[in-house]
Amino acid sequence: MDEINNKKGGISVDTEHIFPIIKKWLYSEKDIFLREIVSNATDAITKLKRLEALGEASDIGDDFRITVTLDKNARTLAVTDNGIGMTEDELQRYICQIALSGALDFIQKYEGEGDASKNGIIGHFGLGFYSAFMVSAEVEIVTRSYTGAPAVRWLCDEAGEYEIFPSDEEARGTTVTLHIAEGEDEYLDAGKIRSMLNKYCAFMPIEIYFVDVDEETEKAAKPAEEGAEPEAPAPVNDTHPLWQKAPSECTPEEYNDFYHKVFGDFRDPLFYIHINADYPLNFKGILYFPRINHEYDSLEGEVKLYYNQVFVADNIKEVIPEYLLMLKGVLDCPELPLNVSRSYLQTNSYVSKVSAHIVKKVADKLNSLYNTEREKYEQLWDDIRTFIEYACMRDRKFYDRVKSALLLHLTDDTYTTIDDYLADAKEKHENTIYYAADKTTQAQYISLFAAQGIKVALFDRMIDVQFIHTIEQNMSGVKFVRIDADVAEALRGEGEATADPVLEALFREVSGNEKLTVKFENLKDTRLPAMLNISEESRRMEEMMKLYAMSSGTDAGSFPQEMTLVVNAAAPLTARLSGMAADEAKADSARKMAKQIYMLALLAQRQLRADELQSFLDDSFDLLEQL
Ligand code: ADP
Repeated sequence: MDEINNKKGGISVDTEHIFPIIKKWLYSEKDIFLREIVSNATDAITKLKRLEALGEASDIGDDFRITVTLDKNARTLAVTDNGIGMTEDELQRYICQIALSGALDFIQKYEGEGDASKNGIIGHFGLGFYSAFMVSAEVEIVTRSYTGAPAVRWLCDEAGEYEIFPSDEEARGTTVTLHIAEGEDEYLDAGKIRSMLNKYCAFMPIEIYFVDVDEETEKAAKPAEEGAEPEAPAPVNDTHPLWQKAPSECTPEEYNDFYHKVFGDFRDPLFYIHINADYPLNFKGILYFPRINHEYDSLEGEVKLYYNQVFVADNIKEVIPEYLLMLKGVLDCPELPLNVSRSYLQTNSYVSKVSAHIVKKVADKLNSLYNTEREKYEQLWDDIRTFIEYACMRDRKFYDRVKSALLLHLTDDTYTTIDDYLADAKEKHENTIYYAADKTTQAQYISLFAAQGIKVALFDRMIDVQFIHTIEQNMSGVKFVRIDADVAEALRGEGEATADPVLEALFREVSGNEKLTVKFENLKDTRLPAMLNISEESRRMEEMMKLYAMSSGTDAGSFPQEMTLVVNAAAPLTARLSGMAADEAKADSARKMAKQIYMLALLAQRQLRADELQSFLDDSFDLLEQL
């Protein structure tokens, strides 16, 4: 047996440099030390299994496990594995000598960057183990190699000064014990450790058990109940996450359960996409369309990125297009290094291919739902459309992929595609899509259009204003016109209407709006004496000002609307009013009637303000008294 003598040494290569850097630089991401230590333990077991498969190790058993032990009184957190272990020589080589020259260059280069690049140093240069010093006053390793070489104990203080001792440990594998530093007491809290394990280690491929010594002591102190079998502890992780399975082997229940568990959302997702690519791109993942209650809920998606089942980060927009971050899901990209810097991701071609592939898969799924499950797709449309509209606005390529599956929700609660709508409109209003912004306040316009067989789309969400703009840009020639913007050709009756200057002046007077444009038209619906229009441009301008004011927190002020009162010359009521206005004896009644007609037109166009409503009610009561 080799003899191990006590030795002393200092971690070689610039220890004075690296220790303060590790402590300060990585400060904001301190929690990841646990991921680093536990993933080293995972690697140690995986390596041992591989050696066995290669015939280079035997009798390794089959109970592979990692135990994380918290002992609050002793102020220690220990990670034990029964993996490959290290000989003294290996310990010297792998732990005591750090290949730092590259790391120091790297640190200098990315000095100014954010947290992601700080993380970059750790895994990139094999410094993962050293992250333990972010929270430890001392780190201890006891390790015994699978080769049967004598066990070694290594003890290193926070300045990087270490000692090596012989150890009589007989079990194969490694225990890394962190002696938690003063001021880092949060890492002695069982709840904190559990939540860190849950975040970083939830899907690591080797079973991980958490032991809280305090809790064990408490349990042991309690008398065991008669006949009660002690419960077998359960691992904290799921070693076979669903995304690693073949999609054909997964059931809808499994997808839903996985979603509930990982995202803590008790609702079922709307649908999911399981990506299982291995060639030429190697990555796997499941993306869920979450159920959205409010328009803005959807913005809070969560896509977790893994590297071979080890958690890397949330919502990395270099890997997933920003508009897809509204989804929830997991992605495992084994071709990315475990720790990566932002700038690395931005220029990496694997990353951009993964991103493009995800976009394609999402678009494919939408198209396949549309093509094969049209009814379900229509039912889902209102839940997914905010997301799809947003994605189309952000990415022309995505729009191009899904454009034939874009639906319009019509005011009669049926759905049609934009293409079908336009084909249908060809005869009556070519290239114009009529839409309403509110089913209630615009009910009269909607029924006017319905009577002429014109379909009206319902665009009643904030995002729609911008989406309309995107479609107009992408489909040249196509225009969206709100139903109260101008008189659709199909609403017009026969012949030219003649203007009545007396009526025109009267309406302008009762409206109290000197700039009101008054126009005479023959409308098909002869019951309707007048209606108000606001030009599409003028209204859009106003909407944009409002949006801008909302986002900048300023006052939108009042933007003068270009209103047009369309007087229906074909309505008998108009003819009567015309006659009354021409008769001086009836001037007062004519004014009252004109005012009432104007107010009714206003009421059909928008909600009345308090003062308008009050005067409308007063006038109405007066009129009723005269009946
Ligand atoms: P990396 O894991 O990126 O190589 P680390 O600093 O985390 O860098 O670890 C350095 C080396 O120490 C590892 O490559 C491995 O050879 C060895 N090592 C660390 N932890 C263990 C362990 N639990 N069992 C066996 N070897 C280990």
